[in-house]
Amino acid sequence: MVSEAVHKSMQGNKRANTKPELVLRTLLRSHGLTGYRLQWKVPGHPDVCWPGKKVAVFVNGCFWHRCPHCKLTVPKTNVEYWTAKFERNQERDREVREKLESDGWIVHTIWECELKKKNVDATVGALFPQLADELGKELVGMDPED
Ligand SMILES: [Zn+2]
Repeated sequence: MVSEAVHKSMQGNKRANTKPELVLRTLLRSHGLTGYRLQWKVPGHPDVCWPGKKVAVFVNGCFWHRCPHCKLTVPKTNVEYWTAKFERNQERDREVREKLESDGWIVHTIWECELKKKNVDATVGALFPQLADELGKELVGMDPED
């Protein structure tokens, strides 16, 4: 058994298999968008990507990555600390996107809130046809009757 602390440090800062990622992967599979890899070894380690097609999807936590859709506030104590931290996170997200795009990748970002029940249909409706096109795959199961 490894201690929790060691286990955490082995994983690095990146949390894999969070709930929104699992939601996304289930949806991808049920719509025929299979064959993706997880945490591929390219800048930013995209949560989901298709290396052969150079298509990547990042699932961003709203709080840490400062989602534009959520009305987020900065915690009231240690404002400077939080502001600097959020800026670093956003800066890193931008850098990762630029690196991948300059290497020919198509980069999609999905926010945690976009995978919540009330938003998920709209998210799938907007993103999946585009993904299917980029991947050269046939989209299945888009009929709401399914
Ligand atoms: Zn959000």
